[in-house]
Amino acid sequence: MDFKSTIRTIPDYPRKGIMFRDVSTLMADPKAFGAAVERLSAPFEKFEISKVAGIDARGFILGGAIALRLKAGFLPLRKPGKLPYRTFSESYELEYGSDALHMHVDGVEPGERVLLVDDLIATGGTAEAGVKLLRRGRADIVSAVFLVDLPDLGGARRVRNMGVEVNALVS
Ligand code: IMP
Repeated sequence: MDFKSTIRTIPDYPRKGIMFRDVSTLMADPKAFGAAVERLSAPFEKFEISKVAGIDARGFILGGAIALRLKAGFLPLRKPGKLPYRTFSESYELEYGSDALHMHVDGVEPGERVLLVDDLIATGGTAEAGVKLLRRGRADIVSAVFLVDLPDLGGARRVRNMGVEVNALVS
């Protein structure tokens, strides 16, 4: 399966000079979406993953499908102001300013085996916040998985340096 050809590139979005990788076209293609979920899930079949943590918002689409495939539960890591119960919060830097991710304080059990999922890793700031949240809940992070890694931005290296394995479908 040629996944790259199913991902649309939008130049100068959301700002001039950015080449935005639009994975909505991969997700809209039933063969590509199914194959992507299968390829990202299959290596973890024997790992007894009990929860998939998906990052707001495209990580929910991919993470929900992977959770179903692995017979795991789903845990949303959300932008501020969205989760109703008490949360842990981790902020991260953006090119201009900062943002944060939240997780319900009872989202994971200590020692629970979790897969972290998002659509794309660029600088790794978002994924790093996800790793920190799961570690505050003392989860065992088996891997972080993405459809796309942009290796020039160093995100995968940054997450590996935190001791978390990274898997991506395309670079
Ligand atoms: P990072 O924190 O720099 O690694 O950026 C990754 C986050 O920004 C992910 O949650 C992505 O959904 C989003 N993102 C950054 N660049 C792109 C892109 O080109 N396409 C789709 N999402 C992107």
